[in-house]
Amino acid sequence: MRTVYVNGVYLPEDQAQVSIFDRGFLFGDAVYEVTAVMNGQMVDFDAHMDRLQRSMSELDMKNGYDRKDLLTIQKKLIEKNNLKEGLVYLQVTRGVADRDFDFSDLDVKPGLVLFTQVKKLEANPLAARGQKIVLADDLRWGRSDIKTVQLLYSSLMKTRAKRQGADDVWLCRDGKITEGSSNNAYIVTHNNEIVTRELSTDILHGITRASVLRIARLHQLKIVERAFSVDELLSAREAFSTSASGFVNPVVNVNGTAISDGEPGHVTTALRASYVAESQSASTRQSL
Ligand code: PMP
Repeated sequence: MRTVYVNGVYLPEDQAQVSIFDRGFLFGDAVYEVTAVMNGQMVDFDAHMDRLQRSMSELDMKNGYDRKDLLTIQKKLIEKNNLKEGLVYLQVTRGVADRDFDFSDLDVKPGLVLFTQVKKLEANPLAARGQKIVLADDLRWGRSDIKTVQLLYSSLMKTRAKRQGADDVWLCRDGKITEGSSNNAYIVTHNNEIVTRELSTDILHGITRASVLRIARLHQLKIVERAFSVDELLSAREAFSTSASGFVNPVVNVNGTAISDGEPGHVTTALRASYVAESQSASTRQSL
């Protein structure tokens, strides 16, 4: 049984409790981060904590947590669960209060919940066979750059995708791809350019996105940050997604149409290999 963390206490997962008045539960008023763990070490810890801070300040969540404390808690949880490869989930909720839409007078310490998940990140079967995706309209709220727990639409669309025999869903706004259910979306054009939507309020500013684009630049690959259309996706040389839980994963089929020859592409495979190697090295480990 896992050990989890709830508001200052480490305890077995079946004993962990949160209040029914927690605003995360009543309003989806909570933000979160998912950080990969490789060889027992967190990947890109600082970048995840920067984004958490940004999510909280965009939602006017006060009394944040000290980064050193968050590092200590995450390290302890990894240790207590003997986690070598997988994920650490961290959620901050605005706190506990009688139900009221208006939170302006609220002055409570935000709630903090963490747990680990075992996951094979390197030997992910999707990396070898490539993902089949389907497309859906992006009907999420207009602040997808804030990493809130309001994930119902993405969850509905992913479930629909799975029922249709696909692995995931990519979302579209005005005929252009925004991002995946829980990942950023890319194509590689026939000119070998990597195209991914520019950062805006339309998409989550992926931590893996930033790392993979940095690695791609190191490899002298050309990157164009702009929205790409469904037609461009269907006629692309390669397509792939990135996320902390999936790293870099090829997309080989969209709405039943194969991308190129329907096999994971070379650029995607090379980027995944570089990213995996980097995540196993000391360079991205927590700096505190
Ligand atoms: N977009 C969305 C909607 C996501 O949920 C995620 C995963 N958290 C990502 C992109 C990828 O972000 P990251 O690389 O930081 O995991």
